[in-house]
Amino acid sequence: MFLEPQFHRSPRETHTGWIEVICGSMFSGKTEELIRRVKRAIIAKQKVKIVKPILDTRYHQTNVVSHNSNYIEAIPVEHSKEILSIAKGSEVIGIDEAQFFDNHLTEICIELANQGKRVIVSGLDMDFEGNPFGQMPYLMSIAEFVTKLHAICARCGNIASYSFRLSAAKEKVLLGEKNEYEPRCRRCFLEGMQQRKELESRQLNIF
Ligand code: ZN
Repeated sequence: MFLEPQFHRSPRETHTGWIEVICGSMFSGKTEELIRRVKRAIIAKQKVKIVKPILDTRYHQTNVVSHNSNYIEAIPVEHSKEILSIAKGSEVIGIDEAQFFDNHLTEICIELANQGKRVIVSGLDMDFEGNPFGQMPYLMSIAEFVTKLHAICARCGNIASYSFRLSAAKEKVLLGEKNEYEPRCRRCFLEGMQQRKELESRQLNIF
């Protein structure tokens, strides 16, 4: 389990920030882990702000909501550059669903950490095709701490790191619930992708 390297600094000490990344597939508990860390920072009486991309409107607009209704307030943000002004006066910044932010997010996180803030980023590391998602690979490279969480494969019960899309829709930004995706291990993910490819080529041959 992740333990914070430090909570409090004396005001005279040179402030040093850092970046933490929480990544993994869908249903791996990323948001729950973000909430856990943020709650501990609040207990340590630190000033915390949480942001999330504005397109995630699955639930209440101003809450970071995890699947078990364990929630905490978040500010919806359209462009990652807005995070700089939101973060003013805060010691800890949580960023949820980071994979959906624009490609300035990495430089914004670096700027915040350089200002002495603790930046906690949570997001999907891979999209539904198994490719690195948005700014996540860059954030994982530059972060001091990376926590990769795993779900359980819905097919075989092994450790799952892929989010398999059950529907045929192609758009990358499809915000899903349990009926649209399922966590899968590498083998079951590959099997599913192969089956889909065969199905698609068969349909093409019919017409
Ligand atoms: Zn499996």
